[in-house]
Amino acid sequence: MTAVGPLRDRFGRVATDLRISLTDLCSLRCTYCMPAEGLDWLTKAQRLTDDEFVRLASVFVGLGVTSMRLTGGEPLVHPTLPAVIARLAALSPRPALSLTTNGVTLAGRAQELAASGLERVNVSLDTLDRERFAALTRRDRLPEVLAGIEAAAAAGLDPLKINAVLARDSNLDEAPALLAWSLERGLRLRFIEHMPLDADHLWSREDMVTADEIQGLLSAAGYELRPFGRRGNAPAEEFEVLDGPGRERWAGREPRVGIIASVTRPFCRECDRLRLTADGQLRTCLFAQTETDLRAPLRNGACDAELAELIAEAVAGKQAGHGIDAVDFVQPARSMSAIGG
Ligand code: SAM
Ligand code: SF4
Repeated sequence: MTAVGPLRDRFGRVATDLRISLTDLCSLRCTYCMPAEGLDWLTKAQRLTDDEFVRLASVFVGLGVTSMRLTGGEPLVHPTLPAVIARLAALSPRPALSLTTNGVTLAGRAQELAASGLERVNVSLDTLDRERFAALTRRDRLPEVLAGIEAAAAAGLDPLKINAVLARDSNLDEAPALLAWSLERGLRLRFIEHMPLDADHLWSREDMVTADEIQGLLSAAGYELRPFGRRGNAPAEEFEVLDGPGRERWAGREPRVGIIASVTRPFCRECDRLRLTADGQLRTCLFAQTETDLRAPLRNGACDAELAELIAEAVAGKQAGHGIDAVDFVQPARSMSAIGG
C-alpha cells in the first residue's frame, strides 16, 4: 500500500482514533437520542459486512490509526461482535480496542468479548432508579445493565467507564448519587453534555446541563474536585475526587470523575477522531455536513492504496471545529446513533 499516513489535517491535527458504528440498530430508545418509534434503519445491503469493516479497519491501521472504539446504535446487537473484535485484534500493528454500549446484553457476553481481545468498555447509565430508567430509555432494562457492568468488571475490562447524560427534567438531581455509586465500585463516571445530535431536534442551549452546572452540583453535594492531568486530545476533563460523602468507601481506589463538555468547552483543536458509519461513510467530525463514501469504492474493487487516498483527502479537509456556537450552525442530518457516538 502507498504510504499516505499519518492522517494530518490542514490544522496540524493527526487522526489516530477511529470510532466504528457496527450497526444503527438499538435495543433502547433513549429520549435524548432517538424517537420512540426508532429511526429509518439501514437495510442489510446498506450495512457493511464484517469483511468490509475489517478491510477498511486494516487500511486505517496502515494510515496510523492506533485505537478503535466499536459503537452504534448498539454494538451488542451486532450478531458477530466477538468475531469482529478478534479480527480487529489480529491487525498489525494491533489497535487498542474498546466498546461503548448500553450494557443491556453485556452480562452474558463480557467474558467472551474480553477473550476475543476487547480491552475496555464504556457503559451508558443515566440513572439508578428503575422507573426513571424505563422512562428515559423507554425500556425497563436497568437490572440487566447493572448485571452487565458487574460482568464487565469481573471480566477484567479495565478501566470501566460509565457515561451519563443529564437532563434537566429527569435525572439532574441524580448526579451526586451516580458519582457515589461509581466511586464505591471503582468505576470512572463521566458526565456528557447533551449535544445537538438528537433525532427529535429537541436540544436547546437553555435546557442543556453544562459542565459548570455539573461541577457546581457536585460541589454543593460535598465533593471536592481537583483537575487531574492534561486534557490533551481526550474529550473528558478529568477530576480527582479529594473528598466527599462516603469517602471511606472509596479510599485507595484512585477516585476520579470526568466531564465531557463538548459544547461549552470544546476540544476540537486537539481532536484526533474519525468515524466510520455502519454504511461505510467516513465522517471527520460528529457535526460534519459531508461524508466520504468508502463503501462504493470498496464494493467496486478499489485497492488499499485507493481507499487510503480517499481517507487522507477527507481528513485533510476536516473542519476546524463543531461550530455549535456559530449563528449559521445546522444540526447534521444524521443523529448520534446513526453516526456512531
Ligand atoms: N448505544 C450505545 C450506548 O448508548 O452507549 C452506543 C451508542 S450511543 C450513541 C453513545 C453515547 O452517546 C452514549 O453514552 C449516549 O448517552 C451518548 N449520546 C447519545 N445521544 C447524545 C446526545 N445527543 N448528546 C450527547 N450524548 C449523546
Ligand atoms: Fe441506543 Fe445508545 Fe442512543 Fe440510547 S444512546 S438510544 S442506547 S444508541
